[in-house]
Amino acid sequence: MAESRRVAVIGAGPSGLVTARELQREGHRVVVFEKSNQLGGLWDYNPQVETDLLSLDPNREIIHSSLYKSLRTNLPRQLMSFSDYSFDCAENGNQLNFPEHEEVLKFLNEFAKDFAINELIRFNTEVVRVAPVDFGENRWIVESKWEELSSEEVFDSVVICNGHYTVPRVANIPGIKIWPGKQIHSHNYRLPEPFKDQTVVVIGDGPISKLDNYENLWNHSKIDHVNESGEVTFLDGSSIHADIILYCTGYKYDFPFLETNGIVSVDDEGRAVGPLYKHVFPPKLSPCLSFVGIPSQGIIFLGSELQAKWIARVLSGKVLLPSEEEMLADVEDHNRQLEEADIPKRHTHRLHPHVMEYMDWIAAQMGMPSLDAGLKEMYWSIYKCAREVGYAKYRDLWVFDNLAKLSL
Ligand code: FAD
Repeated sequence: MAESRRVAVIGAGPSGLVTARELQREGHRVVVFEKSNQLGGLWDYNPQVETDLLSLDPNREIIHSSLYKSLRTNLPRQLMSFSDYSFDCAENGNQLNFPEHEEVLKFLNEFAKDFAINELIRFNTEVVRVAPVDFGENRWIVESKWEELSSEEVFDSVVICNGHYTVPRVANIPGIKIWPGKQIHSHNYRLPEPFKDQTVVVIGDGPISKLDNYENLWNHSKIDHVNESGEVTFLDGSSIHADIILYCTGYKYDFPFLETNGIVSVDDEGRAVGPLYKHVFPPKLSPCLSFVGIPSQGIIFLGSELQAKWIARVLSGKVLLPSEEEMLADVEDHNRQLEEADIPKRHTHRLHPHVMEYMDWIAAQMGMPSLDAGLKEMYWSIYKCAREVGYAKYRDLWVFDNLAKLSL
């Protein structure tokens, strides 16, 4: 008979919601802890920003979401659906292929309602400590805070779904302490108006670097240093006087509540967490501790759903994991391959361009079919279009002839 466990899920963003559904479907008893008063995670847009615009002050109030007001999704709605719950165009509403963020939040709320996930969520409840009852035992203490009240409970398993786009990484620039301009991380960017008529230096070679068709945008080499008169000097020797430095330098993995005696750790700069077998299971603590949503640059919703299905079935004993040694060897192999290919540490969990292999591999562990061929085709056609026409325009110029072929 399949085993039923009492499982704590940390976070009610897309990963936590779909994890709760899969665990429940598999017969586990689920409690979802959510520190905010809303579900949706990053998709719960917050017009407020943090008091420290670089988010370095340890005493600041943390704002979870990093969305800006005009954000549209970077994937079309078909690739932001769950496998059996499609993200249709809103009735009489927005027919855009790449919806605005408000629509994603609505979709997630409907998903939670239709699968009765809301009833499992403890809102305004922040998990402050997760630790094994005893390292020999497969049970976990979860300490949480609701208003001023703390409580401790014991669970058979914990699934961490706390997101990884909240704690900014900031570049270290020589001279920055005496530079008089304003500094802000993209985590705290909401609207363009405050930047009007300002000279802004944007740091980061993410998607924004493909915005090359604007008259008021210039590509520069890396910053060499800045000085007290407001100059920003680049490695190629050129310099400008800037008002603002906008850091698009990414985010850190962060699990401030997790106590594992160093068995699971995040590297010094917050770039990678490990060891994690296939970005999900820490070999020494599996299957009772697991993570959903660690990868980046993939098909996030469907990917989290597959990870959740895998965890749910491993916990019920229907699917077996390899031995601890085999899982560790696999992680080491993965890290070795990244090193040999000279891939920076910050891309340890990046799925692109192996996103399909990864998803199909997890599906195969459960005897499930591979991802729909039409969706795969769609993903690659977007990627191609973005490369050809630029990141700023691909959402409006992308055409896909094979929509009818999709099974969603
Ligand atoms: P999150 O959505 O971050 O949710 C985590 C949840 O955990 C939050 O509700 C948080 O309050 C809760 N939590 C955290 N710590 C605790 C704690 N200690 N106790 C209790 N609760 C806790 N993905 C796409 O698929 N398409 C896109 O177009 C897209 N655009 C993006 C744009 C930006 C600017 C960024 C930063 C990311 C984007 N992403 C996009 C990725 C996005 O992160 C995922 O879509 C998705 O939100 C990941 O879901 P998650 O549940 O893993 O994390």
